[in-house]
Amino acid sequence: MGYDKCHVCESMSENMKRPNGGGYVLTCCLCNREYCQTHKGNHEPDDVCEINHKTYYRNHVARIKGIFPTLESKEEAMELDREKNSKVQNRSQYINGEDGQKGC
Ligand SMILES: [Zn+2]
Ligand SMILES: [Zn+2]
Repeated sequence: MGYDKCHVCESMSENMKRPNGGGYVLTCCLCNREYCQTHKGNHEPDDVCEINHKTYYRNHVARIKGIFPTLESKEEAMELDREKNSKVQNRSQYINGEDGQKGC
């Protein structure tokens, strides 16, 4: 292992050859790729890289699952999933209840 390179470093290394002193890389929780400390996002509180995830999302969402434009939308998607799951559960309970009444 030489130096760790993140996906931003990778895309820049064609123009700029510079060793990465950052050491370790983290996985971006929005685009699921590795990024170094140099390319950490400035305005996001969580573990995300500095790329424009809205653009990335638009370009890639059709092909890759698990990419989110913002942390909010990731939360939203998780909320929706939870809601869907609980609705499915409620519905099947309801149907069972109705069947029981009809049997009477
Ligand atoms: Zn980097
Ligand atoms: Zn990212």
